[in-house]
Amino acid sequence: MQQAGLQLVPGRECGDCVACCKRLEIVDPLLTKPANVLCKHCTGHGCGIYDARPSACRDWFCHWRVDGNLPDSMRPDKCGVLFSFEREDSPRTIFESFFIVGRSMNDDRSVFDVPPVATFLQTWTQDGAGIVPIYRVWKTGVKSLMYPEGPLAHAIEYPATTPYGSFVVEALGWRARYSEFLGSLGFVPKFWC
Ligand code: SF4
Ligand code: SF4
Repeated sequence: MQQAGLQLVPGRECGDCVACCKRLEIVDPLLTKPANVLCKHCTGHGCGIYDARPSACRDWFCHWRVDGNLPDSMRPDKCGVLFSFEREDSPRTIFESFFIVGRSMNDDRSVFDVPPVATFLQTWTQDGAGIVPIYRVWKTGVKSLMYPEGPLAHAIEYPATTPYGSFVVEALGWRARYSEFLGSLGFVPKFWC
């Protein structure tokens, strides 16, 4: 898995947040650690080896650091979910070409259902506005697709053969927006049918 390359929000800093230093698995020649274990180099307020931190840390930023539309309340340690833009090298579905994934910080699924997280998700998935697939991860560690879902998701993946014919027009519109958005980032969806 790798993170998509996006621009940082000018002037926005991590502050006391160390959510990614705990929540993420890190596999790097300089550091290996499992998910949900605080890094041995974390001071509790930041990185104790900041100038020598591994490239896996140096090159990674959460969604809050790259999207100026997110309010301060969406900083991962405050909202309880670590959101990030990511993409798979070998996507299994079109949705893994580029997506947002939200990882619950406390293995609690309900954190996705209350503000400010629920408000953020509603904004990103409301009818006609959604562009980027959204996965969520809680206790199991397995990411599940929460947007798009159901018949619309099937029609997006298989517009020529889906039994959900009434969703095809919306699905084709979604694919066009997604393709245009990925193109603006220099990516190409790898799983078209
Ligand atoms: S989760 Fe985001 S805000 Fe928090 S330390 Fe990591 S990059 Fe910074
Ligand atoms: S090396 Fe530093 S930035 Fe990387 S996980 Fe550990 S504390 Fe966080």
